[in-house]
Amino acid sequence: MQFDDDADLDTSEVKDVRNSRVPGGRATVGGGIIGLIALVLGVLFGVGPDQLGLTDGGDEPVATSSSAAQVNQACKKGSDANTREDCRIVAVVNSLQDFWRSEYARRGGAYGNAATVMFTQRVGTACGSATSAVGPFYCPGDRQVYLDLGFFEELRTKFGSSGGPFAQAYVVAHEYGHHIQNLMGTLERAQDGRTGANSNAVRVELQADCYAGVWARHATTTPDDRTGRPLLTRLTDADIQDGLDAAAAVGDDRIQERFQGRVTPENWTHGSAAQRQQWFHQGYRTGDMARCNTFR
Ligand SMILES: [Zn+2]
Repeated sequence: MQFDDDADLDTSEVKDVRNSRVPGGRATVGGGIIGLIALVLGVLFGVGPDQLGLTDGGDEPVATSSSAAQVNQACKKGSDANTREDCRIVAVVNSLQDFWRSEYARRGGAYGNAATVMFTQRVGTACGSATSAVGPFYCPGDRQVYLDLGFFEELRTKFGSSGGPFAQAYVVAHEYGHHIQNLMGTLERAQDGRTGANSNAVRVELQADCYAGVWARHATTTPDDRTGRPLLTRLTDADIQDGLDAAAAVGDDRIQERFQGRVTPENWTHGSAAQRQQWFHQGYRTGDMARCNTFR
């Protein structure tokens, strides 16, 4: 996975709050209902509500990571994305939105931007206050993707993914898939409160995987708004394999096997490892979001 060294990164699409203190969040107290919505819509993998870590706020200070320079200082060029993890996420967000903007334009629609918020430990959102324990998520209420980069370490150590730069890109692309669903009105289908292998929740998640694949297919040929050249210049088979491996690692059956010792499809929220791989690959193979109808 390689970015154009000379491209300018657009850091306005990423809000870096890793060094800021988060206020208690009492203004967004929503209790269990808002927490549940965040669970259904956003969480990348199926942790139970008791592990969710969503909170109605508190006043304890949030520990900060002090050393990291903010992305708007550190991430200027594609070359930065080729060397720094946080800058790579900026470039992935830029590439994703380049693609979806052009895809919407091609279809005669208007794409609305979604920022990615990089945080540590806890963050306040329109969907309630959340901790890093929920994993990366999309909040439809404020149309933002929330990401603690520490998750990528967990993806390897806790979930057994091979990792790799494109594994991270897949995770971010999945969350932007939810943004597309929000714009299209399909995201709310997940909100019927049901789980299970055939639930709408699982269908929405698999569609987000498919949309991630659609982007991956077009990423190296979509011109960047600023340069007219693709921001992502190289994506290898090994990169795609990293993405598929990450998709499998967060499959419900894998997670259940790993953390509860048995597989219970009636509790699935995101789909099995095989399904997640299959739908990412479907998007990647066809490059056509119309082929991502997981509701059929
Ligand atoms: Zn998801």
